[in-house]
Amino acid sequence: MKTLLLATRNEGKLRELMALLEKEPIRTETLAAHPEAGEVEESGKTFDENARLKAASAARSTGLWAVGEDSGLEVDALNGAPGVCSARYAGIHGDDSANNAKLMRELEGVKDRSARYVCVMALAQPNGEIVATTRGTCEGRLIEAPRGSGGFGYDPYFVAQHTKGERTMAELKPEQKDAISHRGQATRAFIPLLRVHLASEAGSGN
Ligand code: IMP
Repeated sequence: MKTLLLATRNEGKLRELMALLEKEPIRTETLAAHPEAGEVEESGKTFDENARLKAASAARSTGLWAVGEDSGLEVDALNGAPGVCSARYAGIHGDDSANNAKLMRELEGVKDRSARYVCVMALAQPNGEIVATTRGTCEGRLIEAPRGSGGFGYDPYFVAQHTKGERTMAELKPEQKDAISHRGQATRAFIPLLRVHLASEAGSGN
């Protein structure tokens, strides 16, 4: 069985990616099992650039097939911010509550609350070459008071378009979020490409 390295340390993403890939005949591993992979500087200006950087770096340092995922929230009234800076919007990487507090301060009194989640996934072969990328988006809007305890990141403030009962992403069951989310869409587009590339590498243990 081929191994696919999920090149992220974000627990929320890992949970969702593993659930979305669980039916595939692959063994998934995380960076926790690969200290040699080190940290990647997310120096790209776009989700696409960062997803590629993450996948290529993880593959090169481990010799495994790797998927890099870069995602975030684009708010129209903030000209697309926090965008690629979503994880570190308030300064400290991965501090969801500080990021949400900053977002709400920036949107105080702002009428246009429209926003979208974006996710780009990149597949790198073991030598680090990128062989496929996919993208998913989820349109919605931001509410003022948080609701729900599921998901992660900006989910308690984000209501996706057409969600019944105005529930936030954090109020949906995991499978309901996966069905409409940017990550769910990017992963469903990614799976057929993954199958083709892994099948073309017949006989290799990687
Ligand atoms: P990355 O790890 O640099 O790709 O940044 C991802 C950041 O975007 C996360 O830390 C969250 O702040 C935000 N984000 C991405 N996807 C989601 C999601 O599904 N729900 C909520 N926030 C998300």
